[in-house]
Amino acid sequence: IKLEDDEAYFSSYAHFGIHHEMLSDRVRTETYRNALVCNKSQIDGITVLDLGCGTGILSMFCAQAGAAKVVAVDQSDIIYHAMDIIRENNLGDQIQLIKGRLEDLDNIPKVDAIISEWMGYLLLFEGMLDSVIHARDNHLKPGGLLLPNRCDMSLVGISDLERHGELIGFWEDVYSFKMSCLRKETVHVPAVEIAKPESVVTTAFKLRELDLNKCTSRELSYNVPFELKALHTSGEVLLTSLAGYFDVFFDLDNPVSFSTGPLATPTHWKQTIFFLDSPIPMQPGAIIKGSFECLRQKKDCRSLKINIQLEGQEKFQYIVS
Ligand code: SAH
Repeated sequence: IKLEDDEAYFSSYAHFGIHHEMLSDRVRTETYRNALVCNKSQIDGITVLDLGCGTGILSMFCAQAGAAKVVAVDQSDIIYHAMDIIRENNLGDQIQLIKGRLEDLDNIPKVDAIISEWMGYLLLFEGMLDSVIHARDNHLKPGGLLLPNRCDMSLVGISDLERHGELIGFWEDVYSFKMSCLRKETVHVPAVEIAKPESVVTTAFKLRELDLNKCTSRELSYNVPFELKALHTSGEVLLTSLAGYFDVFFDLDNPVSFSTGPLATPTHWKQTIFFLDSPIPMQPGAIIKGSFECLRQKKDCRSLKINIQLEGQEKFQYIVS
């Protein structure tokens, strides 16, 4: 992407609000910290690249865990604050800050590890993983560490008639008028919200496992079949939506991980909810089969197009933008 076409993306990280949201997500931030401080023997004395350092929090954790040197890169203006923050915490000897887009910089040394918090909604939204792959291929020493190094993407069935009514059914009777055109628009946009744990009504299905040491940008578009098995043992349950989420792994000497699924402690990623046009009744033991296709948009490569095809139904398209 040309840098001028990408300015809106980096501007969205310039304001303290988004950093407050990410830093106050303790599941996220403490898992990164634990990955480092619980594995000091692997971090001690190494050189780390912090790709997209934001406020510099991950660089400071690296320094705390004994990294000899951290090169922290960010294209967003937030890096000017990171400069103050690193100075305020007297970490200037260990942490070097560089403003720029990683792909455009030619002064990045070879490093022993790359740390980055690049995950977007539904894992791949924002397309920042491409930058991690670029950094891995160009700046990581052979056998170097990627932090994190592995991610799973999963899907689970949800029954929440109340939310379906509030968001989708809403347009069917607006002060007794119909607004079908807006209903139609709404169903094609996944909602980023927390699914109540008790609304989970099927087994989860792992759509994809990403080994960050190996994956390529081309593999980030995919189409996989899935199967969700109803969990209830009596009566009929209405499937109203599918929830997409991801898990993140640091397979270190002391492994750590976190999940953004509906049964785990909520994170700022919440879940990505794909509402069905109309709920599907499920009997005990029912198996919902379908396919899930994730496509990168050509024009707007930071957004995603998702096609969900449930067996016996028409293909349904969602846009995450
Ligand atoms: N590491 C921080 C911020 C994570 S948000 C934390 O964990 O709190 C991701 C950051 O990466 C944003 O500040 C964004 O501006 C930056 N970023 C994304 N892609 C980048 C790239 N290609 N080069 C440099 N910075 C990038």
